[in-house]
Amino acid sequence: MEGANAQAGRVAVTAGALSKCPIHDDVFIDQMDSASLEDAYRIGAAKVRDCEIDSDHKEFMAAIKRIVEESAMDCGYCAKNDD
Ligand SMILES: [Zn+2]
Repeated sequence: MEGANAQAGRVAVTAGALSKCPIHDDVFIDQMDSASLEDAYRIGAAKVRDCEIDSDHKEFMAAIKRIVEESAMDCGYCAKNDD
């Protein structure tokens, strides 16, 4: 089973709180959308309840919060290549 962080990232992308850089598959881009973040928590909580997540509720909510907070508004690799 993949780690809780990877699962948190996917939940955030599903909810629309994060998107993936179209070029760099491992880079998340913050959509700055608090409603989508709420959706991410809701989807994540349901997945924990259904035992789809290898983490408990509190940990997984924290993982979602962290991965969104750590994401920038644009991809650092792409920004670098723009110069
Ligand atoms: Zn990129």
